[in-house]
Amino acid sequence: MKSIKLFCPATVANLSCGFDVLGLCLDNVGDEMIIHKTNEPGVRITKIVGADLPLEAEKNVAGVAALSMLSQWQTDFGFDIEIHKKIKAGSGIGSSAASAAGAVFGINELLGKPFEPKDLVWFAGWGEHAASGSYHADNVAPALLGGFTLVRGYNPLDVIKIDSPPDLFVAVIHPQIEVKTAEARAVLKKEVPLKAAIAQWGNVGGLVAGLYTHDYELIGRCLHDGVAEPYRKALIPGFDETKKTAMAHGALGAGISGSGPSIFALCKGLSTAEKVADAMSDIYETIGLPYHRHVSPVNPDGVKILEQQ
Ligand code: ADP
Repeated sequence: MKSIKLFCPATVANLSCGFDVLGLCLDNVGDEMIIHKTNEPGVRITKIVGADLPLEAEKNVAGVAALSMLSQWQTDFGFDIEIHKKIKAGSGIGSSAASAAGAVFGINELLGKPFEPKDLVWFAGWGEHAASGSYHADNVAPALLGGFTLVRGYNPLDVIKIDSPPDLFVAVIHPQIEVKTAEARAVLKKEVPLKAAIAQWGNVGGLVAGLYTHDYELIGRCLHDGVAEPYRKALIPGFDETKKTAMAHGALGAGISGSGPSIFALCKGLSTAEKVADAMSDIYETIGLPYHRHVSPVNPDGVKILEQQ
């Protein structure tokens, strides 16, 4: 194989109660990436369409993730990466993770798959480290493995994939403002009151149980966040109203996607998800803030191969 074209999916991390540990993969929202094998060793970002992002491999998450993988697999050839950005950086739906995941997935294919998917999550996490200054895998894990993922721990990395119940759909509204991940981190309290911690881990356990047993009501009861949302919602205009509207239109639950500003709602059935997305859109129409609207099933596979030669 000499080149590969990929779909690199957007992801929703945190899922309310699962701050920094849970995530899911979207199916029809994402970037495209083309990777060519070249005679010249090393990694080069040759082209970025749709965003103003660094071309230097050491500054772009795709390059950083690829170099992390290649530090464990020497080759006498190299790779040129072309990124077609559709997910805006700082959207809260895993823009950087999509690039990190695509780069390691594609190069692994071009190398003849020496690495397991969970190794790829580890390498892609270094791309995220470059973007945010902290190692985290809650977006790259669902982008690479698909479905829902739980990052149980980092030392060593322990990631569990959970298949999505079949009738679960995600509505996402992305108000066109920028929330810097660093800013969204800075508003959080360093200590969590015991009462809030108990509620949070009860909900994480319940959500995982609900996903395994396809208990949609239980999933809905668990989508609460007493740790990050109370502080972060102030960074998102219209958040409370949007969440209230989503619930009133039949969402199982709703919250901040990643560190925002995107807002997600989990819904049972496509028609409910469409209704919820419309209702959430109406809020931003009223506020007069431009937004993007997405409705997607949960992507069971993660990064997808579109073409290969
Ligand atoms: P998101 O949650 O949407 O991924 P982040 O704030 O976590 O947003 O990451 C975006 C940061 O990563 C920006 O500072 C951006 O410049 C940087 N970055 C570097 N390379 C890429 C890339 N290929 N795609 C997206 N963001 C990138």
